[in-house]
Amino acid sequence: MFEIVLASSNEHKIQEMNEISMPFGVKFILPDENFNPTEDGTTFEENSYSKALAAAQCENRGKKYFMADDSGLCVDFLNGAPGIKSARYANTAQERINKLLDALKDAKENQRGAKFVCSLVLINATGQILNKTLGICKGKIAHKQSGEGGFGYDPVFVVENKNKTMASLAQDEKNRISHRGRALMDMLMWIKCSDLK
Ligand code: IMP
Repeated sequence: MFEIVLASSNEHKIQEMNEISMPFGVKFILPDENFNPTEDGTTFEENSYSKALAAAQCENRGKKYFMADDSGLCVDFLNGAPGIKSARYANTAQERINKLLDALKDAKENQRGAKFVCSLVLINATGQILNKTLGICKGKIAHKQSGEGGFGYDPVFVVENKNKTMASLAQDEKNRISHRGRALMDMLMWIKCSDLK
């Protein structure tokens, strides 16, 4: 198994990513306990790189590869917000959804366009970027939440051409079309064709 330290403490995300990567012989593992990332970049990619670097800098188990993802929701009516601030838009997941629905209460149907974006950066132990990928999933913001699956903004994100929220999709269906799934597939294909060992 090709092991990559994933710069995240979100167990749900690691699980979601391992479901996609295991058939490629790639396994994501959690960083060392003293992993303490800063997210002060101005783009998804800057944040992703600084998280991967933080994981590499706290590593003392001799791991060679580090990857981070930074993702978020960009809403047209809000000029791309909450964007890189998606996790900090309000205190809890439910409050973030409520705030978003409230911010869009005057938006018409054709103004509710949105996209999930995911930036992945893979680095080595010295911080050199080996590859980076970007995944996008287009859709729109629903008027009310529905669906039990996923996390974050999934209950209010209606996936383009699906007419269902992301939270209503089965996990394998979400993995196939999500921003993270797309960015990850590109990264896994690259790893498979690379000579990394
Ligand atoms: P992170 O950078 O991947 O931790 O994501 C930042 C925030 O974006 C999360 O806390 C969620 O609120 C939101 N987000 C990212 N990916 C997803 C997703 O797949 N579904 C729903 N919300 C997401």
